[in-house]
Amino acid sequence: MKPTASISLDLDNQWSYMKTHGEAGWELFPSYLDLVVPRILRFLKERGLKITFFVVGQDAALEKNREAIAAIAAAGHEIANHSFSHEPWLHLYSPKELIEEFEKTEAALENVTGTRPVGFRGPGFSLSPAVLDVLAERGYEYDCSTLPTFIAPLARAFFFIRSPNVSDEERGKLKKLFGKFSDGFRTLRPHFIESAGRSIVEIPVTTFPIVKTPIHASYLMFLFRFSPILARAYWKMAVTTCRLTGIQPSLLLHPLDFLCGDDVDGLKFFPGMNVPSVQKLEFLDYAIGLLTDRFDIVSMREHADRFRSGKPSTADKVSLTRA
Ligand SMILES: [Zn+2]
Repeated sequence: MKPTASISLDLDNQWSYMKTHGEAGWELFPSYLDLVVPRILRFLKERGLKITFFVVGQDAALEKNREAIAAIAAAGHEIANHSFSHEPWLHLYSPKELIEEFEKTEAALENVTGTRPVGFRGPGFSLSPAVLDVLAERGYEYDCSTLPTFIAPLARAFFFIRSPNVSDEERGKLKKLFGKFSDGFRTLRPHFIESAGRSIVEIPVTTFPIVKTPIHASYLMFLFRFSPILARAYWKMAVTTCRLTGIQPSLLLHPLDFLCGDDVDGLKFFPGMNVPSVQKLEFLDYAIGLLTDRFDIVSMREHADRFRSGKPSTADKVSLTRA
């Protein structure tokens, strides 16, 4: 039997990219879900894949997105919680703000899909002991908010801290945004995190074993812009190394992996949007095809269930150090 792997997609919408970039008009919550969701669902259906969509509560709360989000659930994919407001400083919220954030998201998702989410991924990989406590208290089964990489803090140092347009307050928040350098030492394997007397399964977003460089689809697309051959070779090596080291990879997708600048006028400025969506889909076909050849692809919930029902050693149990 093939080893387990999982695929998830963070359904970040047009407005959240505009908000991050300080583009006017994001407050109207412009949405491309009508366009991209059918494209993604068709892609997954053609390959017989059932994955997890991490959905933003704010999107589920708007009537204009209802049909698209309901279609995801109707196609048999898992819907999980990706926060309500998609603010990457979620881990700085007070416990009261966190509970409100979770209540609103769960209500909005349940209203559209009829199901309460049991999995969570923080926007911008934001996780804190307070978030874990809320997850445990609210009966969540798993979390996917960690990205074990050395790259993120370096990227932050180069791109954000030096930016002259950033106020001191924002700079303080941004410093905490993408985790610490020590995140790179975190495990790539699913493990239990103990919080509020319960154990939650943590499934990290897989990075390249040992060197911990990113291997999520948007990063592969970034390499693809320079060299399609390099992007394919890098991904093939990553998948092979996962097999050799016994890592069960969890691949992360985003809507922009399926879209180009011609699809969404407002996001032409975004990196990689000059690559035609036909080329992106061809590359995804290759990358996901390689993964399905070598692994049994499941949703995040199924991945967590399989881990929970296995017999993990005590070495798999870790606790998040409280800052
Ligand atoms: Zn997101």
